[in-house]
Amino acid sequence: MARETILVIEDEEDIGELVRYNLAAEGYQVFVADSGEDGLKLARSKKPSLIILDLMLPGIDGLEVCKSLRKDTATDGIAIVMLTAKGEETDIVIGLELGADDYIVKPFSPKVLIARIKAVLRRKSRVITDEKAVIKAHDLAITPGRREVLLKGKKIDLTFTEFSVLHLLARRPGWVFTRNQILEAARGHDALATDRAVDVQIVGLRKKLKSAGNYIETVRGVGYRFKE
Ligand code: CA
Repeated sequence: MARETILVIEDEEDIGELVRYNLAAEGYQVFVADSGEDGLKLARSKKPSLIILDLMLPGIDGLEVCKSLRKDTATDGIAIVMLTAKGEETDIVIGLELGADDYIVKPFSPKVLIARIKAVLRRKSRVITDEKAVIKAHDLAITPGRREVLLKGKKIDLTFTEFSVLHLLARRPGWVFTRNQILEAARGHDALATDRAVDVQIVGLRKKLKSAGNYIETVRGVGYRFKE
Protein backbone atom coordinates (compact mmCIF):
# COMPACT_ATOMS: atom_id res chain seq x y z
CA MET A 1 0.00 0.00 0.00
CA ALA A 2 1.29 3.45 -0.91
CA ARG A 3 2.05 5.68 2.02
CA GLU A 4 -0.50 8.40 2.57
CA THR A 5 0.79 11.93 2.34
CA ILE A 6 0.02 14.59 4.91
CA LEU A 7 0.83 18.26 4.63
CA VAL A 8 1.33 20.29 7.80
CA ILE A 9 0.86 24.07 7.51
CA GLU A 10 2.19 25.58 10.72
CA ASP A 11 4.48 28.56 11.29
CA GLU A 12 5.55 27.56 14.81
CA GLU A 13 8.61 25.45 14.20
CA ASP A 14 8.41 23.30 17.35
CA ILE A 15 4.77 22.38 16.78
CA GLY A 16 5.41 21.66 13.09
CA GLU A 17 8.29 19.42 14.04
CA LEU A 18 6.32 17.63 16.77
CA VAL A 19 3.53 16.88 14.30
CA ARG A 20 5.94 15.86 11.54
CA TYR A 21 7.86 13.51 13.84
CA ASN A 22 4.74 11.76 15.13
CA LEU A 23 3.14 11.39 11.71
CA ALA A 24 6.38 10.07 10.18
CA ALA A 25 6.61 7.55 13.03
CA GLU A 26 3.14 6.32 12.01
CA GLY A 27 4.38 5.76 8.46
CA TYR A 28 2.93 8.82 6.77
CA GLN A 29 4.90 10.82 4.24
CA VAL A 30 4.97 14.34 5.65
CA PHE A 31 5.59 17.79 4.20
CA VAL A 32 5.70 20.92 6.34
CA ALA A 33 4.99 24.45 5.14
CA ASP A 34 5.52 27.45 7.41
CA SER A 35 3.18 29.86 5.65
CA GLY A 36 -0.20 29.79 3.97
CA GLU A 37 1.36 30.69 0.61
CA ASP A 38 3.80 27.77 0.72
CA GLY A 39 1.08 25.51 2.04
CA LEU A 40 -1.16 26.20 -0.95
CA LYS A 41 1.74 25.57 -3.35
CA LEU A 42 2.60 22.26 -1.69
CA ALA A 43 -1.06 21.24 -1.58
CA ARG A 44 -1.22 21.60 -5.36
CA SER A 45 2.10 19.92 -6.11
CA LYS A 46 2.11 17.08 -3.54
CA LYS A 47 -1.62 16.28 -3.54
CA PRO A 48 -1.76 15.11 0.10
CA SER A 49 -4.66 13.04 1.47
CA LEU A 50 -4.92 15.36 4.42
CA ILE A 51 -3.76 18.81 5.52
CA ILE A 52 -3.18 19.84 9.11
CA LEU A 53 -3.83 23.53 8.99
CA ASP A 54 -2.89 25.99 11.72
CA LEU A 55 -5.36 28.87 11.74
CA MET A 56 -2.97 31.51 13.09
CA LEU A 57 -0.50 32.03 10.26
CA PRO A 58 1.36 35.13 9.15
CA GLY A 59 0.27 36.41 5.72
CA ILE A 60 -2.67 34.40 4.41
CA ASP A 61 -4.28 33.00 7.54
CA GLY A 62 -5.62 29.48 7.96
CA LEU A 63 -9.23 30.34 7.17
CA GLU A 64 -8.14 31.96 3.89
CA VAL A 65 -6.06 28.88 3.08
CA CYS A 66 -9.07 26.69 3.79
CA LYS A 67 -11.25 28.78 1.49
CA SER A 68 -8.67 28.65 -1.32
CA LEU A 69 -8.26 24.88 -0.98
CA ARG A 70 -11.99 24.32 -1.25
CA LYS A 71 -12.38 26.67 -4.23
CA ASP A 72 -9.76 24.90 -6.33
CA THR A 73 -10.84 21.63 -7.97
CA ALA A 74 -7.24 20.38 -7.66
CA THR A 75 -7.43 20.56 -3.86
CA ASP A 76 -11.11 20.50 -2.92
CA GLY A 77 -11.07 16.79 -2.08
CA ILE A 78 -8.23 16.98 0.45
CA ALA A 79 -9.26 16.42 4.06
CA ILE A 80 -8.53 19.41 6.29
CA VAL A 81 -7.96 19.25 10.05
CA MET A 82 -7.60 22.68 11.63
CA LEU A 83 -5.24 23.38 14.49
CA THR A 84 -6.75 25.97 16.78
CA ALA A 85 -6.05 27.61 20.09
CA LYS A 86 -8.39 27.40 23.05
CA GLY A 87 -11.25 29.88 22.83
CA GLU A 88 -11.27 30.03 19.03
CA GLU A 89 -14.76 28.54 18.71
CA THR A 90 -15.85 31.26 16.28
CA ASP A 91 -12.97 30.43 13.95
CA ILE A 92 -13.70 26.72 14.30
CA VAL A 93 -17.29 27.35 13.24
CA ILE A 94 -16.20 29.48 10.27
CA GLY A 95 -13.61 26.87 9.26
CA LEU A 96 -16.13 24.03 9.36
CA GLU A 97 -18.51 26.10 7.25
CA LEU A 98 -15.70 26.75 4.78
CA GLY A 99 -15.32 22.99 4.41
CA ALA A 100 -12.74 21.88 6.99
CA ASP A 101 -13.37 18.31 8.16
CA ASP A 102 -12.36 18.51 11.80
CA TYR A 103 -10.25 20.46 14.26
CA ILE A 104 -7.80 19.86 17.07
CA VAL A 105 -7.37 22.32 19.91
CA LYS A 106 -3.84 23.15 21.09
CA PRO A 107 -2.21 21.93 23.21
CA PHE A 108 -2.87 18.35 22.05
CA SER A 109 -1.20 15.05 22.74
CA PRO A 110 0.43 13.28 19.77
CA LYS A 111 -1.75 10.25 20.51
CA VAL A 112 -4.92 12.29 20.15
CA LEU A 113 -3.60 13.93 17.00
CA ILE A 114 -2.88 10.56 15.33
CA ALA A 115 -6.24 9.13 16.41
CA ARG A 116 -8.13 12.13 15.01
CA ILE A 117 -6.25 12.03 11.71
CA LYS A 118 -6.90 8.33 11.27
CA ALA A 119 -10.58 8.91 12.06
CA VAL A 120 -10.86 11.70 9.47
CA LEU A 121 -9.13 9.62 6.77
CA ARG A 122 -11.39 6.67 7.61
CA ARG A 123 -14.53 8.79 7.54
CA LYS A 124 -13.50 10.46 4.31
CA SER A 125 -13.32 7.09 2.61
CA ARG A 126 -16.76 5.97 3.65
CA VAL A 127 -18.95 9.04 3.32
CA ILE A 128 -22.29 8.03 1.94
CA THR A 129 -22.60 9.95 -1.31
CA ASP A 130 -25.82 8.26 -2.37
CA GLU A 131 -28.62 10.49 -1.08
CA LYS A 132 -31.03 7.57 -1.24
CA ALA A 133 -28.90 4.96 0.52
CA VAL A 134 -30.39 3.42 3.64
CA ILE A 135 -28.28 4.39 6.62
CA LYS A 136 -27.81 1.82 9.34
CA ALA A 137 -26.23 3.34 12.41
CA HIS A 138 -26.24 1.76 15.86
CA ASP A 139 -29.82 0.39 16.14
CA LEU A 140 -31.33 2.95 13.77
CA ALA A 141 -32.28 2.36 10.14
CA ILE A 142 -32.90 5.54 8.14
CA THR A 143 -34.57 5.27 4.72
CA PRO A 144 -34.43 8.65 2.92
CA GLY A 145 -36.73 7.60 0.05
CA ARG A 146 -39.56 6.93 2.47
CA ARG A 147 -38.36 9.42 5.05
CA GLU A 148 -38.65 6.59 7.51
CA VAL A 149 -36.71 5.92 10.69
CA LEU A 150 -36.78 2.60 12.50
CA LEU A 151 -35.40 2.10 15.99
CA LYS A 152 -34.82 -1.61 16.63
CA GLY A 153 -37.37 -2.24 13.88
CA LYS A 154 -40.00 0.08 15.33
CA LYS A 155 -41.09 3.13 13.35
CA ILE A 156 -40.44 6.59 14.81
CA ASP A 157 -42.59 9.51 13.65
CA LEU A 158 -40.50 12.56 12.79
CA THR A 159 -41.42 15.89 11.23
CA PHE A 160 -39.95 16.75 7.85
CA THR A 161 -37.39 19.05 9.46
CA GLU A 162 -36.43 16.56 12.16
CA PHE A 163 -35.88 13.93 9.51
CA SER A 164 -33.69 16.29 7.45
CA VAL A 165 -31.55 17.10 10.47
CA LEU A 166 -31.15 13.46 11.47
CA HIS A 167 -30.34 12.42 7.89
CA LEU A 168 -27.70 15.14 7.59
CA LEU A 169 -25.94 14.12 10.80
CA ALA A 170 -26.25 10.34 10.39
CA ARG A 171 -24.84 10.37 6.85
CA ARG A 172 -21.50 11.45 8.26
CA PRO A 173 -21.03 9.93 11.71
CA GLY A 174 -18.33 11.64 13.75
CA TRP A 175 -18.51 14.78 11.62
CA VAL A 176 -19.23 18.05 13.40
CA PHE A 177 -21.93 20.20 11.81
CA THR A 178 -22.38 23.84 12.79
CA ARG A 179 -25.83 25.21 13.46
CA ASN A 180 -25.62 27.15 10.18
CA GLN A 181 -24.92 23.99 8.21
CA ILE A 182 -27.89 22.33 9.87
CA LEU A 183 -30.05 25.36 9.04
CA GLU A 184 -28.93 25.17 5.41
CA ALA A 185 -29.81 21.49 5.18
CA ALA A 186 -33.27 21.98 6.66
CA ARG A 187 -34.03 25.21 4.82
CA GLY A 188 -37.06 25.14 2.57
CA HIS A 189 -38.76 22.50 4.67
CA ASP A 190 -40.15 24.87 7.24
CA ALA A 191 -39.37 27.86 9.35
CA LEU A 192 -36.00 26.93 10.80
CA ALA A 193 -34.49 30.35 11.00
CA THR A 194 -32.23 30.73 14.00
CA ASP A 195 -29.54 28.90 15.93
CA ARG A 196 -32.01 28.57 18.75
CA ALA A 197 -34.49 26.87 16.39
CA VAL A 198 -31.81 24.28 15.59
CA ASP A 199 -31.33 23.57 19.28
CA VAL A 200 -35.08 23.17 19.73
CA GLN A 201 -35.23 20.70 16.81
CA ILE A 202 -32.39 18.71 18.34
CA VAL A 203 -34.12 18.55 21.72
CA GLY A 204 -37.31 17.30 20.05
CA LEU A 205 -35.40 14.84 17.89
CA ARG A 206 -33.51 13.37 20.84
CA LYS A 207 -36.75 12.89 22.74
CA LYS A 208 -38.41 11.06 19.85
CA LEU A 209 -35.36 8.89 19.26
CA LYS A 210 -35.56 7.71 22.87
CA SER A 211 -32.61 5.43 23.65
CA ALA A 212 -30.99 6.47 20.35
CA GLY A 213 -31.27 10.16 21.28
CA ASN A 214 -27.80 10.22 22.77
CA TYR A 215 -26.28 9.34 19.37
CA ILE A 216 -26.72 13.04 18.63
CA GLU A 217 -23.91 14.67 20.53
CA THR A 218 -23.54 18.34 21.39
CA VAL A 219 -20.16 19.85 20.53
CA ARG A 220 -19.92 22.79 22.88
CA GLY A 221 -19.61 26.17 21.17
CA VAL A 222 -19.54 24.55 17.72
CA GLY A 223 -22.58 22.43 16.86
CA TYR A 224 -23.69 18.80 16.73
CA ARG A 225 -22.48 15.45 15.50
CA PHE A 226 -23.77 11.90 15.17
CA LYS A 227 -21.84 9.48 17.36
CA GLU A 228 -19.30 7.36 15.50
CA1 CA B 1 0.57 29.66 14.26
